[in-house]
Amino acid sequence: MKAEIITIGDELLLGQTVDTNSVFISKVLTPLGFNIHYKQAISDSKQAIIESLDLSIKRSKLIIITGGLGPTKDDITKHTLAEYFHSDWRWDKDVLKHLESIFSDRGRELLDINKQQAMLPALCETLFNRKGTAPGMLFDIQGVWVASLPGVPYEVVEIMEHSLIPKLKSEFNIKPIINRTLTTALIPESKIAQKLEAFEESIKNRFSLAYLPSYNIVKIRLNALNSTITQNEFDQKWEKLIHELGDWVVDTTDSPISEQWAKILIEKDFQISTAESCTGGYIGNQLVSVSGASTYFQGSVVSYANQIKSNVLNVDADLIQKYGAVSKEVAVAMVNGVSQVMNTSVAIATTGIAGPTGGTEEKPVGTIWIAVKINDHISVKQYKLRGTRIEFMLRAFNTAFVQFKNLLQHSK
Ligand code: ATP
Ligand code: MG
Repeated sequence: MKAEIITIGDELLLGQTVDTNSVFISKVLTPLGFNIHYKQAISDSKQAIIESLDLSIKRSKLIIITGGLGPTKDDITKHTLAEYFHSDWRWDKDVLKHLESIFSDRGRELLDINKQQAMLPALCETLFNRKGTAPGMLFDIQGVWVASLPGVPYEVVEIMEHSLIPKLKSEFNIKPIINRTLTTALIPESKIAQKLEAFEESIKNRFSLAYLPSYNIVKIRLNALNSTITQNEFDQKWEKLIHELGDWVVDTTDSPISEQWAKILIEKDFQISTAESCTGGYIGNQLVSVSGASTYFQGSVVSYANQIKSNVLNVDADLIQKYGAVSKEVAVAMVNGVSQVMNTSVAIATTGIAGPTGGTEEKPVGTIWIAVKINDHISVKQYKLRGTRIEFMLRAFNTAFVQFKNLLQHSK
């Protein structure tokens, strides 16, 4: 069933805000069998809303709009939709009650401008918003559903999951189209594509592959091309794909690397610590971003300066003098130091040149040494990582994970 998304907001067009709403909506609707065939990002203008709706209504059964539902003057979606669908107005008592309770909880006075949020077009069904003040609206225009949601991403998630999706599931009996995603690491996309050439040829017309590269990781999604493909047929191709890729596959899910890492640490009952120079605590930050991190994460030493490497991690100052801070020897001394100081079975150390300045001919920008320690086994490797400082850290994190996984396999 054809669906499309309209995201409203000047900030999206100015490049101030990244449109994550449409990404989320596509992600949740596609597995339900909706075919998202268009997305439009438009300004906060009545004309833009009308023009985009004129187009969408002709070609889609479901249109989801986000943004522009706030109480301020720049948010005009509600009034434009009421006018577009020639709707009167109604007060929604449940929304008003919800607003009163939010404002009293926050100890704030409910102003008239806020109360107006409980006034909705008579034609729409309310999509209740437990997380915010602007309710969503659902219009059924001769079988075409137009849903209007606020712009705030977590409110979009709330309304989609608790209100709109249950309604869509009960109204439209759509057969989901199967797809699944796996994660590969440290192998360039083009090399993977080359390896999968024959496989791709053998599945064409019934399945397709999508390559999703990001910072030394490539996710690969296998898509069934229509709803007649059974789970059994899909599973056979999936197994074949995994077999073709062999040990390039680091995980057969597309969960974030931080979660994959956490899963292994918990399974193995490992405690981890990090000693980070060029990554400035980013690896620790990512490990802590997973709920339940206290079961495996002890701490990080951000040893950016040489004296911190020496004073806190007990790295011999002569070693730094002799080999330089960005060296195999120092990476190993750091990983040994932090595992001792924090008393952990697993430790990670990074030392490198994130750039854009500070590179030399011998150690150009992007050079990084990563040391991984699991019990008495140490692996230390040098990489050249591309990108801005932040991209460098993202790549370092993903790369350290792969190095950890490989060491784990080889130290069994
Ligand atoms: P509010 O009730 O908070 O005013 P609203 O419906 O008016 O909500 P907007 O004012 O358009 O929503 O946006 C609220 C916030 O959500 C802003 O910070 C905006 O940058 C962000 N936002 C809006 N649209 C998107 C989008 N498509 N993806 C990610 N963030 C978005
Ligand atoms: Mg807005």
